[in-house]
Amino acid sequence: MMSTVESCAEVGEDPAFGWRHAPSLKTLFSLINRDGEEVRVVGGALRNSLLGAPVSDIDCATTADPTKVMHWAQEANIRALPTGLDHGTVTLIIDDRPFEVTTLRTDVETNGRHAAVAFGRDWMKDAHRRDFTMNAIYMDAQGRLYDPVGRGIEDARARHVHFIGAARKRIEEDYLRVLRFFRFFAQYGERMEEEGYRACIAAQAKLSGLSAERVGAEMAKLIQGPYAARALDAMHQGGMLTGILASVPHLSRFRRLQTLARALYLKGDLTLLLTALAVDVREDGERLARKLRLPNRTRDAMKRMAQTVRTLRSVDEALLQQLAYEHGKETACNLILLALVRRQIDPDLTELSMLFRDLALWSLPVFPLNGRDLIDCGMKPGPQLGERLSALEKAWVSSNFELRKGQLLTLAKAMR
Ligand code: ATP
Ligand code: MG
Repeated sequence: MMSTVESCAEVGEDPAFGWRHAPSLKTLFSLINRDGEEVRVVGGALRNSLLGAPVSDIDCATTADPTKVMHWAQEANIRALPTGLDHGTVTLIIDDRPFEVTTLRTDVETNGRHAAVAFGRDWMKDAHRRDFTMNAIYMDAQGRLYDPVGRGIEDARARHVHFIGAARKRIEEDYLRVLRFFRFFAQYGERMEEEGYRACIAAQAKLSGLSAERVGAEMAKLIQGPYAARALDAMHQGGMLTGILASVPHLSRFRRLQTLARALYLKGDLTLLLTALAVDVREDGERLARKLRLPNRTRDAMKRMAQTVRTLRSVDEALLQQLAYEHGKETACNLILLALVRRQIDPDLTELSMLFRDLALWSLPVFPLNGRDLIDCGMKPGPQLGERLSALEKAWVSSNFELRKGQLLTLAKAMR
Protein backbone atom coordinates (compact mmCIF):
# COMPACT_ATOMS: atom_id res chain seq x y z
CA MET A 1 0.00 0.00 0.00
CA MET A 2 1.18 3.50 -0.89
CA SER A 3 2.34 5.61 2.02
CA THR A 4 0.17 8.61 2.76
CA VAL A 5 3.07 11.03 3.17
CA GLU A 6 4.49 10.33 -0.25
CA SER A 7 3.00 11.49 -3.49
CA CYS A 8 2.77 8.89 -6.19
CA ALA A 9 2.38 10.90 -9.38
CA GLU A 10 2.72 14.40 -10.72
CA VAL A 11 0.07 15.91 -12.92
CA GLY A 12 2.63 18.24 -14.53
CA GLU A 13 1.08 20.12 -17.44
CA ASP A 14 -1.57 17.52 -18.22
CA PRO A 15 -4.33 19.68 -19.79
CA ALA A 16 -7.01 17.75 -17.90
CA PHE A 17 -5.63 19.40 -14.75
CA GLY A 18 -5.34 22.86 -16.30
CA TRP A 19 -7.81 24.18 -13.71
CA ARG A 20 -5.09 23.88 -11.07
CA HIS A 21 -3.49 27.07 -12.39
CA ALA A 22 -6.58 29.16 -11.72
CA PRO A 23 -5.55 32.25 -9.73
CA SER A 24 -8.36 31.57 -7.24
CA LEU A 25 -6.89 28.16 -6.38
CA LYS A 26 -3.41 29.68 -6.03
CA THR A 27 -4.88 32.19 -3.58
CA LEU A 28 -6.43 29.35 -1.62
CA PHE A 29 -3.17 27.42 -1.43
CA SER A 30 -1.20 30.42 -0.24
CA LEU A 31 -3.90 31.28 2.29
CA ILE A 32 -3.73 27.94 4.07
CA ASN A 33 -0.28 26.47 3.35
CA ARG A 34 1.53 28.11 6.26
CA ASP A 35 2.35 27.70 9.93
CA GLY A 36 2.68 23.97 9.45
CA GLU A 37 -0.81 23.58 7.97
CA GLU A 38 -1.56 22.18 4.55
CA VAL A 39 -4.47 22.19 2.12
CA ARG A 40 -4.98 19.77 -0.77
CA VAL A 41 -7.61 19.38 -3.43
CA VAL A 42 -9.60 16.16 -2.95
CA GLY A 43 -12.44 14.20 -4.48
CA GLY A 44 -14.51 14.94 -7.56
CA ALA A 45 -12.17 17.37 -9.32
CA LEU A 46 -9.25 14.90 -9.34
CA ARG A 47 -11.42 11.91 -10.12
CA ASN A 48 -12.97 13.72 -13.09
CA SER A 49 -9.64 14.95 -14.45
CA LEU A 50 -8.24 11.43 -14.28
CA LEU A 51 -11.15 9.82 -16.06
CA GLY A 52 -11.63 12.59 -18.58
CA ALA A 53 -14.82 14.28 -17.38
CA PRO A 54 -15.30 18.02 -16.91
CA VAL A 55 -14.58 19.50 -13.49
CA SER A 56 -17.24 21.61 -11.85
CA ASP A 57 -16.57 22.30 -8.20
CA ILE A 58 -13.32 21.98 -6.31
CA ASP A 59 -13.38 20.44 -2.82
CA CYS A 60 -10.39 20.71 -0.52
CA ALA A 61 -9.15 19.03 2.61
CA THR A 62 -6.88 20.64 5.18
CA THR A 63 -5.03 19.98 8.41
CA ALA A 64 -6.09 23.42 9.69
CA ASP A 65 -9.18 23.44 11.86
CA PRO A 66 -12.25 25.36 10.66
CA THR A 67 -11.81 28.28 13.06
CA LYS A 68 -8.31 28.86 11.75
CA VAL A 69 -9.53 28.72 8.14
CA MET A 70 -12.31 31.22 8.93
CA HIS A 71 -9.86 33.48 10.72
CA TRP A 72 -7.26 33.48 7.94
CA ALA A 73 -9.92 34.11 5.34
CA GLN A 74 -11.28 37.09 7.25
CA GLU A 75 -7.79 38.51 7.62
CA ALA A 76 -7.28 38.24 3.86
CA ASN A 77 -10.70 39.73 3.07
CA ILE A 78 -11.92 36.49 1.58
CA ARG A 79 -15.55 35.62 2.11
CA ALA A 80 -15.87 32.58 4.34
CA LEU A 81 -19.22 30.90 4.91
CA PRO A 82 -19.59 28.44 7.78
CA THR A 83 -21.56 26.02 5.60
CA GLY A 84 -20.95 22.94 7.75
CA LEU A 85 -18.88 23.90 10.76
CA ASP A 86 -19.92 20.89 12.82
CA HIS A 87 -18.43 18.51 10.28
CA GLY A 88 -15.54 20.84 9.56
CA THR A 89 -16.59 22.54 6.32
CA VAL A 90 -16.04 26.17 5.46
CA THR A 91 -16.88 27.54 2.02
CA LEU A 92 -14.45 30.14 0.77
CA ILE A 93 -15.52 32.38 -2.07
CA ILE A 94 -12.53 33.48 -4.12
CA ASP A 95 -13.06 35.42 -7.36
CA ASP A 96 -16.73 34.37 -7.22
CA ARG A 97 -15.79 30.68 -7.08
CA PRO A 98 -16.81 28.60 -4.10
CA PHE A 99 -14.29 26.20 -2.56
CA GLU A 100 -15.47 23.78 0.09
CA VAL A 101 -12.63 23.39 2.54
CA THR A 102 -13.04 20.55 5.03
CA THR A 103 -10.74 19.79 7.93
CA LEU A 104 -9.30 16.28 7.91
CA ARG A 105 -11.65 13.97 9.72
CA THR A 106 -12.00 10.60 11.28
CA ASP A 107 -15.44 9.20 11.89
CA VAL A 108 -15.65 8.29 15.55
CA GLU A 109 -19.21 7.07 15.58
CA THR A 110 -21.66 6.25 12.84
CA ASN A 111 -25.26 5.13 12.98
CA GLY A 112 -26.10 4.59 9.34
CA ARG A 113 -27.26 8.14 8.83
CA HIS A 114 -25.05 10.56 10.71
CA ALA A 115 -21.42 10.39 11.66
CA ALA A 116 -19.86 12.04 14.67
CA VAL A 117 -16.47 13.26 13.52
CA ALA A 118 -13.19 14.21 15.09
CA PHE A 119 -10.83 16.63 13.40
CA GLY A 120 -7.39 15.24 12.76
CA ARG A 121 -4.14 15.69 10.94
CA ASP A 122 -3.97 12.31 9.34
CA TRP A 123 -4.45 12.14 5.56
CA MET A 124 -4.64 8.36 5.67
CA LYS A 125 -7.53 8.36 8.13
CA ASP A 126 -9.31 11.06 6.18
CA ALA A 127 -9.01 8.95 3.04
CA HIS A 128 -10.36 5.87 4.74
CA ARG A 129 -13.58 7.47 5.85
CA ARG A 130 -14.41 8.46 2.26
CA ASP A 131 -16.70 6.25 0.22
CA PHE A 132 -15.06 5.07 -3.00
CA THR A 133 -11.44 4.66 -4.01
CA MET A 134 -11.85 7.09 -6.92
CA ASN A 135 -13.04 9.76 -4.43
CA ALA A 136 -10.04 9.59 -2.11
CA ILE A 137 -7.30 11.12 -4.25
CA TYR A 138 -5.53 14.32 -3.15
CA MET A 139 -3.40 16.92 -4.93
CA ASP A 140 -1.08 19.47 -3.33
CA ALA A 141 -0.06 22.94 -4.49
CA GLN A 142 2.79 21.53 -6.58
CA GLY A 143 0.48 19.24 -8.54
CA ARG A 144 1.59 16.07 -6.76
CA LEU A 145 -1.06 13.39 -6.43
CA TYR A 146 -1.56 11.33 -3.29
CA ASP A 147 -3.47 8.10 -3.20
CA PRO A 148 -3.54 6.97 0.44
CA VAL A 149 -5.77 3.94 -0.15
CA GLY A 150 -3.46 2.86 -2.92
CA ARG A 151 -5.81 2.09 -5.79
CA GLY A 152 -7.75 5.33 -6.27
CA ILE A 153 -5.88 6.58 -9.32
CA GLU A 154 -6.03 3.24 -11.04
CA ASP A 155 -9.74 2.86 -10.30
CA ALA A 156 -10.53 6.40 -11.45
CA ARG A 157 -8.74 5.78 -14.74
CA ALA A 158 -10.55 2.47 -15.18
CA ARG A 159 -13.88 4.05 -14.11
CA HIS A 160 -14.18 1.33 -11.54
CA VAL A 161 -16.54 2.14 -8.66
CA HIS A 162 -15.08 0.39 -5.65
CA PHE A 163 -15.73 0.86 -1.93
CA ILE A 164 -12.86 1.73 0.35
CA GLY A 165 -12.61 -1.21 2.72
CA ALA A 166 -15.28 -3.85 3.20
CA ALA A 167 -18.42 -2.80 1.34
CA ARG A 168 -20.86 -4.24 3.85
CA LYS A 169 -19.26 -2.41 6.75
CA ARG A 170 -19.00 0.90 4.86
CA ILE A 171 -22.66 0.66 3.90
CA GLU A 172 -23.72 -0.01 7.48
CA GLU A 173 -21.99 3.23 8.48
CA ASP A 174 -24.04 5.23 5.99
CA TYR A 175 -26.81 3.70 3.89
CA LEU A 176 -26.73 6.60 1.46
CA ARG A 177 -23.59 4.98 0.08
CA VAL A 178 -25.82 2.38 -1.59
CA LEU A 179 -27.25 5.09 -3.80
CA ARG A 180 -23.91 6.82 -4.21
CA PHE A 181 -22.48 3.53 -5.51
CA PHE A 182 -25.04 3.39 -8.31
CA ARG A 183 -24.87 7.14 -8.83
CA PHE A 184 -21.12 7.12 -9.50
CA PHE A 185 -21.55 4.10 -11.73
CA ALA A 186 -24.23 6.00 -13.68
CA GLN A 187 -21.92 8.96 -14.07
CA TYR A 188 -18.59 7.28 -14.71
CA GLY A 189 -19.17 3.56 -14.68
CA GLU A 190 -17.21 1.15 -16.68
CA ARG A 191 -17.09 -1.41 -13.90
CA MET A 192 -18.64 -1.86 -10.49
CA GLU A 193 -17.18 -3.85 -7.62
CA GLU A 194 -19.08 -7.14 -7.43
CA GLU A 195 -18.91 -7.46 -3.71
CA GLY A 196 -20.00 -3.84 -3.46
CA TYR A 197 -22.99 -4.56 -5.68
CA ARG A 198 -24.05 -7.55 -3.60
CA ALA A 199 -23.68 -5.57 -0.39
CA CYS A 200 -25.83 -2.75 -1.81
CA ILE A 201 -28.57 -5.13 -2.82
CA ALA A 202 -28.46 -6.83 0.57
CA ALA A 203 -28.85 -3.47 2.33
CA GLN A 204 -31.78 -2.17 0.28
CA ALA A 205 -34.35 -2.48 3.06
CA LYS A 206 -32.45 0.17 5.00
CA LEU A 207 -32.96 2.83 2.34
CA SER A 208 -36.39 3.65 3.70
CA GLY A 209 -34.67 5.18 6.74
CA LEU A 210 -32.94 7.84 4.63
CA SER A 211 -34.37 11.29 4.16
CA ALA A 212 -36.28 11.82 0.93
CA GLU A 213 -34.09 14.85 0.12
CA ARG A 214 -30.87 12.87 0.19
CA VAL A 215 -32.36 10.02 -1.83
CA GLY A 216 -33.81 12.51 -4.30
CA ALA A 217 -30.51 14.38 -4.73
CA GLU A 218 -28.58 11.18 -5.46
CA MET A 219 -31.28 9.80 -7.77
CA ALA A 220 -31.42 13.07 -9.71
CA LYS A 221 -27.68 12.88 -10.36
CA LEU A 222 -27.90 9.17 -11.15
CA ILE A 223 -30.67 9.55 -13.70
CA GLN A 224 -28.78 12.23 -15.59
CA GLY A 225 -25.59 10.21 -15.78
CA PRO A 226 -24.45 8.92 -19.18
CA TYR A 227 -24.61 5.32 -17.96
CA ALA A 228 -27.89 5.73 -16.10
CA ALA A 229 -29.65 3.00 -18.05
CA ARG A 230 -27.06 0.45 -16.98
CA ALA A 231 -27.11 1.61 -13.38
CA LEU A 232 -30.91 1.46 -13.26
CA ASP A 233 -30.90 -2.00 -14.84
CA ALA A 234 -28.48 -3.21 -12.18
CA MET A 235 -30.64 -1.76 -9.41
CA HIS A 236 -33.77 -3.28 -10.87
CA GLN A 237 -32.19 -6.70 -11.23
CA GLY A 238 -31.38 -6.49 -7.55
CA GLY A 239 -35.03 -5.73 -6.85
CA MET A 240 -34.52 -2.30 -5.38
CA LEU A 241 -35.70 0.19 -8.00
CA THR A 242 -39.46 -0.19 -7.68
CA GLY A 243 -39.25 0.65 -3.98
CA ILE A 244 -37.16 3.75 -4.56
CA LEU A 245 -39.39 5.13 -7.31
CA ALA A 246 -42.67 3.92 -5.81
CA SER A 247 -43.69 2.59 -9.22
CA VAL A 248 -42.68 -0.02 -11.76
CA PRO A 249 -39.94 1.49 -13.93
CA HIS A 250 -40.06 1.49 -17.74
CA LEU A 251 -36.47 0.54 -18.30
CA SER A 252 -36.52 -0.15 -21.99
CA ARG A 253 -38.32 3.13 -22.60
CA PHE A 254 -35.67 4.90 -20.56
CA ARG A 255 -32.90 3.18 -22.52
CA ARG A 256 -34.46 4.18 -25.84
CA LEU A 257 -34.73 7.76 -24.64
CA GLN A 258 -31.08 7.88 -23.57
CA THR A 259 -29.98 6.49 -26.94
CA LEU A 260 -32.19 8.89 -28.86
CA ALA A 261 -31.09 11.94 -26.85
CA ARG A 262 -27.46 10.98 -27.30
CA ALA A 263 -27.87 10.51 -31.04
CA LEU A 264 -29.31 14.01 -31.24
CA TYR A 265 -26.60 15.48 -28.99
CA LEU A 266 -29.24 16.51 -26.49
CA LYS A 267 -28.79 16.35 -22.78
CA GLY A 268 -32.06 14.84 -21.61
CA ASP A 269 -33.32 16.95 -18.74
CA LEU A 270 -34.39 15.56 -15.40
CA THR A 271 -38.11 16.05 -15.95
CA LEU A 272 -38.03 14.21 -19.26
CA LEU A 273 -35.90 11.36 -17.94
CA LEU A 274 -38.03 10.84 -14.86
CA THR A 275 -41.26 10.99 -16.81
CA ALA A 276 -40.02 8.43 -19.30
CA LEU A 277 -38.83 6.17 -16.52
CA ALA A 278 -41.70 6.25 -14.11
CA VAL A 279 -44.59 8.59 -14.92
CA ASP A 280 -47.52 7.32 -16.97
CA VAL A 281 -50.36 9.21 -15.39
CA ARG A 282 -50.57 12.30 -13.23
CA GLU A 283 -50.75 10.32 -9.98
CA ASP A 284 -47.40 8.69 -10.76
CA GLY A 285 -45.84 12.15 -10.96
CA GLU A 286 -47.37 13.13 -7.66
CA ARG A 287 -46.10 9.99 -5.93
CA LEU A 288 -42.63 10.13 -7.44
CA ALA A 289 -42.19 13.78 -6.49
CA ARG A 290 -43.15 12.99 -2.92
CA LYS A 291 -40.87 9.97 -2.76
CA LEU A 292 -37.84 11.92 -4.02
CA ARG A 293 -38.87 15.30 -2.56
CA LEU A 294 -38.62 16.95 -5.97
CA PRO A 295 -39.39 20.64 -6.41
CA ASN A 296 -43.03 21.45 -7.18
CA ARG A 297 -41.92 22.80 -10.51
CA THR A 298 -40.53 19.39 -11.51
CA ARG A 299 -43.62 17.61 -10.18
CA ASP A 300 -45.99 19.82 -12.17
CA ALA A 301 -43.90 19.54 -15.31
CA MET A 302 -43.86 15.73 -15.08
CA LYS A 303 -47.60 15.58 -14.61
CA ARG A 304 -48.23 17.93 -17.50
CA MET A 305 -45.90 16.00 -19.77
CA ALA A 306 -47.44 12.64 -18.92
CA GLN A 307 -50.87 14.00 -19.69
CA THR A 308 -50.00 15.90 -22.88
CA VAL A 309 -47.95 13.12 -24.42
CA ARG A 310 -51.03 10.90 -24.57
CA THR A 311 -52.74 13.30 -26.95
CA LEU A 312 -49.91 13.42 -29.50
CA ARG A 313 -50.62 11.60 -32.72
CA SER A 314 -48.00 12.83 -35.17
CA VAL A 315 -44.61 14.47 -35.30
CA ASP A 316 -44.52 17.42 -37.63
CA GLU A 317 -43.61 21.06 -37.68
CA ALA A 318 -47.12 22.33 -37.03
CA LEU A 319 -47.57 20.18 -33.96
CA LEU A 320 -44.14 21.11 -32.63
CA GLN A 321 -44.92 24.82 -33.00
CA GLN A 322 -48.28 24.44 -31.30
CA LEU A 323 -46.67 22.60 -28.42
CA ALA A 324 -43.94 25.22 -28.20
CA TYR A 325 -46.50 28.00 -28.02
CA GLU A 326 -48.28 26.27 -25.18
CA HIS A 327 -45.42 24.71 -23.20
CA GLY A 328 -42.22 26.41 -24.35
CA LYS A 329 -39.73 25.19 -26.95
CA GLU A 330 -37.75 22.88 -24.72
CA THR A 331 -40.77 21.06 -23.39
CA ALA A 332 -42.15 20.78 -26.91
CA CYS A 333 -39.03 18.89 -28.04
CA ASN A 334 -39.13 16.79 -24.89
CA LEU A 335 -42.74 15.87 -25.56
CA ILE A 336 -41.88 14.71 -29.04
CA LEU A 337 -39.00 12.58 -27.76
CA LEU A 338 -41.23 11.09 -25.11
CA ALA A 339 -43.98 10.32 -27.59
CA LEU A 340 -41.49 8.58 -29.89
CA VAL A 341 -40.01 6.36 -27.20
CA ARG A 342 -43.38 5.54 -25.70
CA ARG A 343 -44.59 4.31 -29.06
CA GLN A 344 -41.27 2.63 -29.86
CA ILE A 345 -40.81 4.61 -33.05
CA ASP A 346 -37.31 4.97 -34.47
CA PRO A 347 -37.36 8.39 -36.08
CA ASP A 348 -35.23 9.62 -38.94
CA LEU A 349 -32.54 11.42 -36.95
CA THR A 350 -31.66 13.96 -39.62
CA GLU A 351 -35.28 14.94 -40.08
CA LEU A 352 -35.83 15.21 -36.36
CA SER A 353 -32.76 17.35 -35.75
CA MET A 354 -33.82 19.66 -38.57
CA LEU A 355 -37.27 19.97 -37.02
CA PHE A 356 -35.70 20.87 -33.67
CA ARG A 357 -33.30 23.30 -35.28
CA ASP A 358 -36.10 25.04 -37.17
CA LEU A 359 -38.06 25.32 -33.96
CA ALA A 360 -35.10 26.95 -32.21
CA LEU A 361 -35.04 29.60 -34.95
CA TRP A 362 -38.79 30.09 -35.03
CA SER A 363 -40.16 33.18 -33.31
CA LEU A 364 -43.26 32.64 -31.25
CA PRO A 365 -46.25 34.40 -32.88
CA VAL A 366 -48.29 36.89 -30.88
CA PHE A 367 -52.02 36.28 -30.45
CA PRO A 368 -53.61 39.11 -32.44
CA LEU A 369 -56.61 39.60 -30.15
CA ASN A 370 -57.09 40.94 -26.65
CA GLY A 371 -59.94 41.63 -24.24
CA ARG A 372 -60.28 45.19 -25.43
CA ASP A 373 -61.06 43.99 -28.98
CA LEU A 374 -63.93 41.88 -27.68
CA ILE A 375 -65.31 44.74 -25.58
CA ASP A 376 -65.15 46.99 -28.61
CA CYS A 377 -67.34 44.44 -30.39
CA GLY A 378 -69.93 44.80 -27.65
CA MET A 379 -69.00 42.01 -25.25
CA LYS A 380 -69.29 42.66 -21.54
CA PRO A 381 -66.20 42.51 -19.37
CA GLY A 382 -66.13 39.59 -16.94
CA PRO A 383 -65.10 35.97 -16.55
CA GLN A 384 -67.01 34.92 -19.65
CA LEU A 385 -64.97 37.26 -21.74
CA GLY A 386 -61.77 35.66 -20.47
CA GLU A 387 -63.09 32.21 -21.29
CA ARG A 388 -64.07 33.26 -24.75
CA LEU A 389 -60.70 34.85 -25.35
CA SER A 390 -58.89 31.67 -24.41
CA ALA A 391 -61.24 29.57 -26.58
CA LEU A 392 -60.37 31.87 -29.48
CA GLU A 393 -56.68 31.58 -28.72
CA LYS A 394 -57.03 27.78 -28.85
CA ALA A 395 -58.76 28.01 -32.21
CA TRP A 396 -55.98 30.28 -33.43
CA VAL A 397 -53.27 27.86 -32.24
CA SER A 398 -55.07 24.93 -33.92
CA SER A 399 -55.27 26.93 -37.14
CA ASN A 400 -51.49 26.89 -36.96
CA PHE A 401 -51.57 30.59 -36.01
CA GLU A 402 -53.15 31.45 -39.35
CA LEU A 403 -56.50 32.95 -38.35
CA ARG A 404 -56.29 36.73 -38.69
CA LYS A 405 -57.78 39.27 -36.34
CA GLY A 406 -60.83 39.85 -38.53
CA GLN A 407 -61.53 36.15 -38.80
CA LEU A 408 -61.18 35.76 -35.06
CA LEU A 409 -63.64 38.58 -34.43
CA THR A 410 -66.14 36.94 -36.77
CA LEU A 411 -65.67 33.73 -34.84
CA ALA A 412 -66.16 35.60 -31.57
CA LYS A 413 -69.49 36.95 -32.73
CA ALA A 414 -70.59 33.52 -33.86
CA MET A 415 -69.82 32.18 -30.39
CA ARG A 416 -72.41 34.36 -28.66
P1 ATP B 1 -19.69 15.72 -7.43
O1 ATP B 1 -18.95 15.98 -8.70
O2 ATP B 1 -21.01 15.09 -7.64
O3 ATP B 1 -19.73 16.88 -6.47
P2 ATP B 1 -17.99 14.58 -5.43
O4 ATP B 1 -17.10 13.39 -5.41
O5 ATP B 1 -17.34 15.91 -5.20
O6 ATP B 1 -18.82 14.55 -6.75
P3 ATP B 1 -19.60 15.12 -3.14
O7 ATP B 1 -20.94 14.56 -2.79
O8 ATP B 1 -19.47 16.58 -3.41
O9 ATP B 1 -19.09 14.27 -4.35
O10 ATP B 1 -18.60 14.72 -1.97
C1 ATP B 1 -17.24 15.18 -1.90
C2 ATP B 1 -16.36 14.07 -1.37
O11 ATP B 1 -16.74 13.76 -0.02
C3 ATP B 1 -16.47 12.75 -2.12
O12 ATP B 1 -15.58 12.72 -3.21
C4 ATP B 1 -16.13 11.74 -1.05
O13 ATP B 1 -14.73 11.65 -0.90
C5 ATP B 1 -16.69 12.35 0.22
N1 ATP B 1 -18.06 11.89 0.54
C6 ATP B 1 -19.22 12.50 0.22
N2 ATP B 1 -20.29 11.84 0.69
C7 ATP B 1 -19.80 10.77 1.34
C8 ATP B 1 -20.39 9.67 2.06
N3 ATP B 1 -21.72 9.55 2.17
N4 ATP B 1 -19.55 8.76 2.60
C9 ATP B 1 -18.21 8.89 2.48
N5 ATP B 1 -17.61 9.86 1.81
C10 ATP B 1 -18.36 10.80 1.25
MG1 MG C 1 -18.38 17.85 -4.90
